[in-house]
Amino acid sequence: MDDMSHEVMNQVPALSGHDVAADPALAAALAREGADWAEGELRQLGLLAGTARAQEWGRLANENEPVLRTHDRYGHRIDEVEFHPAWHELMTVAVENGLHAAPWGMARPGAHVARAAKFYVWSQVEAGHGCPISMTYAAVAALRHAPALAGEWEAALASRTYDPGLRPLADKRGVLAGMAMTEKQGGSDVRANATTAEPLGDGTYALNGHKWFNSAPMCDVFLVLAQAPGGLSCFLLPRVLPDGTRNAIRIMRLKDKLGNRSNASAEVEYDDAVAFLVGEEGRGVRTIIEMVNMTRLDCVIGSAAGMRAGLMQAVHHARHRTAFGRTLIDQPLMRNVLADLALESEAATVLMMRLAGATDRALTGQTQEGLFRRVALAAGKYWVCKRAAGHAAEALECLGGNGYVEESGMPRLFRESPLNGIWEGSGNVAALDLMRALTRDPEAAEAFFAEVELATDPRVSEAVSRVRKTLTHATEADARRLAEEMALVLQASLLIRFAPAAVADAFCASRLGGSGRAYGALGPGPDIDAILART
Ligand SMILES: Cc1cc2nc3c(=O)[nH]c(=O)nc-3n(C[C@H](O)[C@H](O)[C@H](O)COP(=O)(O)OP(=O)(O)OC[C@H]3O[C@@H](n4cnc5c(N)ncnc54)[C@H](O)[C@@H]3O)c2cc1C
Repeated sequence: MDDMSHEVMNQVPALSGHDVAADPALAAALAREGADWAEGELRQLGLLAGTARAQEWGRLANENEPVLRTHDRYGHRIDEVEFHPAWHELMTVAVENGLHAAPWGMARPGAHVARAAKFYVWSQVEAGHGCPISMTYAAVAALRHAPALAGEWEAALASRTYDPGLRPLADKRGVLAGMAMTEKQGGSDVRANATTAEPLGDGTYALNGHKWFNSAPMCDVFLVLAQAPGGLSCFLLPRVLPDGTRNAIRIMRLKDKLGNRSNASAEVEYDDAVAFLVGEEGRGVRTIIEMVNMTRLDCVIGSAAGMRAGLMQAVHHARHRTAFGRTLIDQPLMRNVLADLALESEAATVLMMRLAGATDRALTGQTQEGLFRRVALAAGKYWVCKRAAGHAAEALECLGGNGYVEESGMPRLFRESPLNGIWEGSGNVAALDLMRALTRDPEAAEAFFAEVELATDPRVSEAVSRVRKTLTHATEADARRLAEEMALVLQASLLIRFAPAAVADAFCASRLGGSGRAYGALGPGPDIDAILART
């Protein structure tokens, strides 16, 4: 006999069994940016991402957090972090699908675009495991400053086999990379790093000191900053040395974080840990910035993915839930909110795909694309990551009280949402980086404007004039306003060129010259059916 005193009504079915890659803005951008050959793989991944099984991995990996084991039962230090099997399932899919360093081993044009699209789709299942995946992708860019080390490690970094466990490189079928810059006394200002690197005379260095944030500490190798005799330098630090002994990296504790709970973020200490120089002594920031430039792209992709995931949950809920005699999606004010969320999401998606395309082309030597990327990535990292938290809060609210409850998955999305804004250069740092690029490299600024002005539209030219005006007298205190204006005009331009007119028109009307309001305040006239058709 049923033990319920009532029939459950008007509750929304779970959103699963769908193709997460069925995203018109993504599909169009994939082709436009030169990776239509990846459509089939993307769709396969999208279908897997939509399964209840994959969603369950995401839940389990977050509810069963990683555990630090400093010692074995006999008292030997082991410094290992134990993950739930669901984490390993997520990692396996990510590595097998080449979301990590695989594009570096592919000569195919569009390899970085395909990877970006897949990272976007798979991040919608679970964001935490994206951290080591992203760092492994990004590490190659910096590692290539040391061709011999790159030659040793790159194939294993790009391998499509997920092979966890601490063993020497020679015994591994695939490896993962992390990054350790931030120390207690400073993260943004890495020049304050106090960890020392002493040459040992055989080409290696002994590292002594600490790192305050070292995510995914079970990675096989880390790029680390430390003070060598010639100044702040970048090092490759393996967890296990070639002779099979464990390097002297002590994991002190794991952070108790707001979100990103499936992923471990450690505090570590080095006690004569053996490391290899990457690039020249004294050029550590210049070397590791190559890695940061790649992880910043992933911050934009990850935030765009979070927005799309939140939007799809919100629209799904609104399509099934009724209130006051009508489904929510038929209520004019809810339609306004959903359409506004959809605009933000699509604008983030087109921008991240354009940045991925620029990455791909810059890596094959297209200078203009590299210049454009220099400015657009800084502005995009600032703005898209900044918009993610507000977007997640609003998407959550569309589910009403259910959205505030863990089982809906929305709290996890919400807790994750500020993170991309913090790491790899917090908001102010990203905005100041944009200012630096604009002042030091006028060609990059012009490449940015040339791209934006490909949309020959008075709304764009007016916005460009405003940006140029801001630029002439901008001080550090104006950096956020400038980054916001520049990101918005680029998003508007891309939407005018590549999205349905309904999307572009509503975006321009609400965002150009009038940003910063709550969602759901679109002015009169937007074609909401056309905008929501994109979900
Ligand atoms: C979950 C998580 C995982 C992380 N994983 C790693 C990792 O694996 N490896 C790693 O190296 N780091 C990692 N970090 C650290 C992260 O990169 C830093 O926290 C970040 O760079 C900011 O540095 P900070 O915390 O020292 O803050 P601070 O540098 O002290 O900054 C504090 C605030 O001041 C602002 N600020 C700084 N300089 C200026 C300025 N000139 N003008 C105006 N405002 C300014 C910043 O924008 C920020 O809002 C992680 C962080 C988190 C939260």
